[in-house]
Formats: sequence, C-alpha cells, structure tokens
Amino acid sequence: MMKTFTLIFSAFSACFASSSAEAEHVHTLRCRHFSGAPVGATTSSQRYAPDRLVDLEHLSLDVTPDFKNRRVAGTATLTFRPIVTPLEELRLDAVDLRISKVTSGDKIAGWENTDEALIVTFEKPIPAGRQAKLKVTYEAEPVKGLYFRTPELGYDSKDTHLWTQGETIEARHWFPCFDAPNEFLTSTMICRVPKEMTVLSNGRKTSEAVDPDTGLKVVTWKQEKPHVNYLISLVAGHFKRLQQKHGGLSMSFWTPPSDFANAANSFRQTKKCMEYFEKEIGVAYPWAKYDQVCVQDFNWGGMENTSLTTLNASTLFSNETENIRSSQGLVAHELAHQWFGDLVTCKDWSHIWLNEGFATYYTHLFAGHMQGRDQMLYGLYRDLNRLTSLKDDTTAMVNRKYEHPSDMFRKYGSLSYTKGSWVLHMLRSSLGTDLFRQVVKTYLERHRHGNVVTDNLRAVIEELSGKSHDRFFDQYVYHAHHPELKVDYSWDAKTKLAKLSVKQEQKVDDKVMLFHLKLPVSFKVGKKTVLRSVEISKVSEDYYFALPTVPEIVRVDPDLTLLAKITFAPPASMLHAQLLDLEDVVGRLLAVEQLAKKNDAGTVGKLKTALTEDPFHGVRMAASKALREIATEPAFEALVKAKEQDDARVRRQVIGDVGSFYKPEALAFLKKVLAGEKNPSVRSAAVNGLAGHDDAETGKIINQALSSKSFRHQLGFAAVSTIRKQDDPAYLPSLRSALEKDEKKFTTNGFAFGLRSLGHLARNEEDKSSVRQFLFDRVGRLNRRVRIAAIDALGQLNDPGAIAVLEKFSVSRKDTPERTAAEKAIEALRSGGKPSDDLKTLRNEVTDLKKDNQKLHQDLEDLKKRLDAVIGTKTTSSDSVEGKK
Ligand SMILES: [Zn+2]
Repeated sequence: MMKTFTLIFSAFSACFASSSAEAEHVHTLRCRHFSGAPVGATTSSQRYAPDRLVDLEHLSLDVTPDFKNRRVAGTATLTFRPIVTPLEELRLDAVDLRISKVTSGDKIAGWENTDEALIVTFEKPIPAGRQAKLKVTYEAEPVKGLYFRTPELGYDSKDTHLWTQGETIEARHWFPCFDAPNEFLTSTMICRVPKEMTVLSNGRKTSEAVDPDTGLKVVTWKQEKPHVNYLISLVAGHFKRLQQKHGGLSMSFWTPPSDFANAANSFRQTKKCMEYFEKEIGVAYPWAKYDQVCVQDFNWGGMENTSLTTLNASTLFSNETENIRSSQGLVAHELAHQWFGDLVTCKDWSHIWLNEGFATYYTHLFAGHMQGRDQMLYGLYRDLNRLTSLKDDTTAMVNRKYEHPSDMFRKYGSLSYTKGSWVLHMLRSSLGTDLFRQVVKTYLERHRHGNVVTDNLRAVIEELSGKSHDRFFDQYVYHAHHPELKVDYSWDAKTKLAKLSVKQEQKVDDKVMLFHLKLPVSFKVGKKTVLRSVEISKVSEDYYFALPTVPEIVRVDPDLTLLAKITFAPPASMLHAQLLDLEDVVGRLLAVEQLAKKNDAGTVGKLKTALTEDPFHGVRMAASKALREIATEPAFEALVKAKEQDDARVRRQVIGDVGSFYKPEALAFLKKVLAGEKNPSVRSAAVNGLAGHDDAETGKIINQALSSKSFRHQLGFAAVSTIRKQDDPAYLPSLRSALEKDEKKFTTNGFAFGLRSLGHLARNEEDKSSVRQFLFDRVGRLNRRVRIAAIDALGQLNDPGAIAVLEKFSVSRKDTPERTAAEKAIEALRSGGKPSDDLKTLRNEVTDLKKDNQKLHQDLEDLKKRLDAVIGTKTTSSDSVEGKK
C-alpha cells in the first residue's frame, strides 16, 4: 500500500488452533499465545508467521450492507483441509463480530465467540487431508476493515459508498478469517445492494441479477487465482466508470459521481504503465482485470487488492494545477504491487520490503521511462537524501522486533519503502539491466501465487549471477544503516596523481557493519571522462589515480548507484564546472547544494543562471532553494527576477522562497503574484508566504483566500494554515465563520485541520465559551475524523470547562482513537493547559520566579547576616562573659 495519507491501524496475527490427542496441549497453548490482538508482555518480542494447521482452500462471503446503520450482515463459508494433524478445534480471527450460527458437514460439539476469535470444536477430529466446510452466519458494525461513506457521516448522498481495507490485519473486523499473509486461497464475494449501486471486488464478475424477493441487486465476483486474506476487497455504492482495453484485459477507473469530472487526469497513465511493466518485468499481468476505484477519505494513498486497486480520491486533481499534481506515482506503485505483493506475497510482515521496495522502485523506473533518466535519478537522489538524514537509523530492513505489523509501514516505512527500493537499485546497477530482469522474472515465476522471504530473492540472484550475495544482504538488509563515506581529494602536479582518501565514518557496532563495497569515481579531463572503481573495506584508505592532466571535475559515485552518505566537498572551481555539465543531473544538484553554503556575488550569479536556464526542473528548484538559503540582497533580487517560470513546479518553488524573506519587497511581490496568478497551488504558496506580515491589507487577502473557491478548497486550506502560523486571534471570527458556513468546501482532513486551528487560536481568549460550544457541537459527529479533531481542538483550547465532555470519551470503548485523543486532551488541560507553544511564556515565568527567588535568597542572606550580627554580638559577649568566668 502507499503510505502517503496514513491513519489508523490494528493488531497482530493469528492462526488456527487444532488438537490431536497427543498434541492438544501444545497446539492450544501456542495458538492462544500467538493469536489475537495487541502483543502483550507475555509474548516473545520477535515476530514470526503463525502456524497453518489447515490448508484454507476457499472463502466465500455473502454480505448485505446496511448503509443507513453502517452495519453488515452475512455468511462466511470456508473450505479447508487439515494439513498433518487431525483437527478438533478450529480458531478464526473475528473481532467484535456478532455470530449467530455456525454449521458444518462435520458435527460441531460447540463454539465460542470471544471478542477476538471464533473457536469451533468438532465432535470428532477431522482427518488430515480430508476436505471440510464451515459456514458462519454473523453481523458486524465494524470500526475497522470496512468503512462507510454516507450522508449520516457528512458525505454527499449521491456519493454513498463503502470500501474495505485488509492490510495489515483489519479484515478480521468484518469477516471471520485466517488473517495472516502465509495462506493462499481463492475467494468469492457475493454482495447485495440497492439496484442502482455498483459492486466491485477481486477477480471476475460471474453474475449480477436482482433478487425478486428482496429487490436487491446480487453481484458475484470470483477470485479464481489464489491470493492472501489481506488482499480481499469489497467496494460498493454509487460509482461512475472510465474504461480502456489492454489487449484482452479490461481496465476500468471508477470514482464517486461528484469526483468523476477529473477521473481522466488520474487514469491517463494506466495503460502506458501496464505496457511498460509487462515488458520490464517480463511476466504477463496475472489477474482477470485491472480496476482502480477512487474512494473518499481512504486511510492510505492506495491499496493494491488483487485486480482491484483502491485509490484515495484525494489523488484526483483539476487541470488548473498544471503539472504540480499527478497520479502517475500512485498509479504505478499500486500497479507494480499486482506482481510484487500480490502474485508473490511476503510470508510475514518482517519481509514487507519485498512488497513495498519493489513497488517503490518500479515507480522510479516508470518515471524514467516516461520522463527520462534524469527524472528517475532525481527520484532516487531525493530518496537517498531522505535515507541518509534519518535519525536513529539502527534497525535492519528485515526486522522481527516490531510491536505491531503496521509499524513496518509507519515507524519503519522509510526502510520498507525507500531503502527497499534503493537496495533493488544497487542490485540492478551491479547486475546490469538484463540480468536483473532475468532475476526478477525467475523470482516471480518460481514463487507465483506463493510466499516469499528475502532469501528467495538472494537465492535467485546467486543462481543466475554466480556471485555470492551473502555479504551484500548482510550489510544492507540484515544489518542497519549504510556507509558514511568522507572523501578528500588532492592533486599532485609533479607526479600527475589524483589522490582520494576515503574514510568510513558510520558508527560500527552489533547493528551496523563496516562495509565492503565498490566505490565508482570519475574524473573529467578535457573532453574525456575517466571512470574508475575502488574497493573499500577498511575504516580509512588512500587511493591514487594517474591522469594526463589536472581534472576539471571529480565525481564520487557519478551514476548514483550506491546507498551511502558521501561527504565530498570539491573546490569551487570544480563545482562551477559541475554546474554546467548537462550530462550529469546529479552532479548539478550536488553543485547547487554545495554552492548554497557560499554567498559571494559570483556564486549568486551562477545560481541565478541555473535557476533560469538549467534544462531540468529539479535543478532549477534546487537553485531557488539555494538562493533562499544564501538569503542576501542579491539572492533575493535573483529570486524575484526569476519568477516567470513556465514550469509550475518551479514557479511555486520560487514564490515560496521569496515568501520566506521578511521584508516589505517580499510582501509587495506576493501581493502582485496573488493579483495575477491563476494556478491555485501556486497561489497557495503565495498565501503561505504572507505569514509573518501583518499589515491591514494582508489580513484582508488571507480572509479573501479563506472564503475563495478552488478545487478541494486548497486555497482556503492554505489560508487556514497561514492563520495558524500568524497565531493572531483577530482571525477568530473569520476562521469560525468559514468552518461554520463552508464546511462542505473543505475536504474532511482540511476541515479537521481548521477545527484544530480554531482551538489553538482561541486558547488565550478570556471568554472561550462560544468556541467551546462550537467544538462541543462537533464532538458528537458520526464522522470519526471530525470527532477526533474536535476533541483535539478542545484539548488545545486550554479551557477546563471542556473536561467533563472529554471525560465521556476517555471512558469509552477500549482502544478507540477517540479515547486516545480525549485522554491526551484531558492531560493537557489538567496540566494547567500549557501546551508546547506556551512553553516560552512558561519559561519566562520560571526565569522571573528564579530571579524573585534569587532576590528573596539575597534578602534572606541579608537578614541572616543581620541576625547573626545581632546574635553574634550576644554570643561573643556571653562567650567572653563565660570566658571571664
Ligand atoms: Zn505499497
């Protein structure tokens, strides 16, 4: 899945329990310990795939959603065979399901429905290898797994729909299942809906007819090729469709009706991407169709359910944003998963990089195919910068010590996605494109419709290349971090030798290794480029290169093939030459970044030229950022002069960078932009730049933006974030009125941000009662995102009057986001309502108190001395008196 728009997640994996006479105790114990929700103190801290006691062959779901009451009723029929041991007890993951009936061809002695599992005991153990069936009749009001988007929750009634999300372990919230990735099964989805609705699911649609008894439309989908539980998907409701063919393959793009106008923008690259992946991967697209469906307020950017990808409708964009918005990356990522993740699936969550790393890397490859090699390198370059600036990067990419499977996507997401992709890039770079393709094809074909672990990939690489990759995987995959190389260069004119000194500076310990690697370097001498590669295996080593004459450019890892943090600062003359090398986009990006540290007129002039003339937009954007960092008057002038940019991405960057200067000319510039610019994304950057300026006209402009109209109200959203930065209560009336009157203009997340900003802005008001009431009116909303935002806002409002209402949520059902939010809010209020932004005041107060204290201390000392003086006189006199005795 795509992590961009993260939210919400749940518990750990589970398994079937069975028991034969001889193994009863062991099995029951093991399964009860390993299954179920949050991992408690009693379980091991290492995570492994659960046991499979039965081979699950097929799951058939027959469900009827109740949109009005946000419930679902249905039956789940499982077909299975015990693997080795006769099965007496079958345990299924089932969270908060109301189960009314359990039947089977085999006699059932009894069944138990805990909040987390359904445990069925058979009268006689089912023999190993013999097929059996179990049918469960149930109802659910799911808090996870299945999500409704209905008018009761504030959505447009014409858009009414529901969507499901299985990954990581949410499916158990809406149907009983074996909720772990190490079991492949086929599945059937039968869904009964009002006849004007559409039903989408995995695989092939096999029937659609109205049931005369109920008047409901009954739609049946069959996934005839094995896949895993978390990829089972159901989307039902009002949708409109675009369709295309790729050979005999049907590809559709669905959106809720209100979003349909912009569907084509996001669908556009699908066909090209499909063609490219089939060719590049070398394995035909493996499923019966390829549909993408946009749903509202999805929890993620997208989800790669087999043959039916779910996309967050926020990916849709209007033409007025020019090239600033695109769905290419998301579309490519989810499509790549149809092979990597779906055709082969990681056996357990510790190997999730085999899903996410591949999907991320093939998205870069597709960018290279569409926009050229520079675009691919640019993506990898930015990912590298992110990876090498990670703080506390001490976890290996294959990691069994996560608390919850979702940690592998969020907490360790940069490893699973970004590092995974980079590891594949290193492999492709060292093996060569052809051999890499062969490896990938073999890996997929060998394990199709089956599980993979990292070693399966390594084995294929070694088999086809003949080269041991143990060290490579040990260094980069099973140990943490990457090499940090400090490189120094010098030239000896007498001997005509270039010298490079390389030091490995990463902290080497149990978690991070001293790396063995090949480091490519290049020297530009005249019109020739001399390529060399050196072996690095020590903490520090010097290397010499004989060259015909002094090089104009020295580049370390010139083709960007090494996951390493390389610190190399060539002299300015080299950077200037590098900046002009049109063959080397990474060299130009590096040159711009290093030149940002200088601020002489010559440098500013060169950056200005790069900003207006470089052929690659990423370099122009980097030049803009560099001028912003230099922050001198000439740098400012250069930015202002470069505002005419055809490429909207660069234009927005320049305007944002000018907006970071605090001077009247910057304000005048932004006002001018807002008067003439049409693109709402660029206008938003200008509105954000207004933060910090507080003349009367600025306030007017911000308020105008707040009430303006733009797709997804993005300009209004920019106004809210500027108001929040301004932190000026003068905006309270306009912000509140916008939230009250224009709620529908905002996206749900935009509105939620608005509520939080309102609470924040009103926190120092004397009379908070009206804002408090406004927020109270929204904590009761059925829409969870709005409800939680209102709770958070009450916490920020710093108003003890809110505690009583918040307490109602803090004692609510276990494990809800509302409860967590309410507890946090109450804690903030009880601790005197000093949220972090008030720390400064607090600090000042403490300082004042300290000063007072010091003064008191002095006064006390003074008093003591005086007292001592008085008492001392007496003592002395008495002593002397005594002495005189
Ligand atoms: Zn993904």
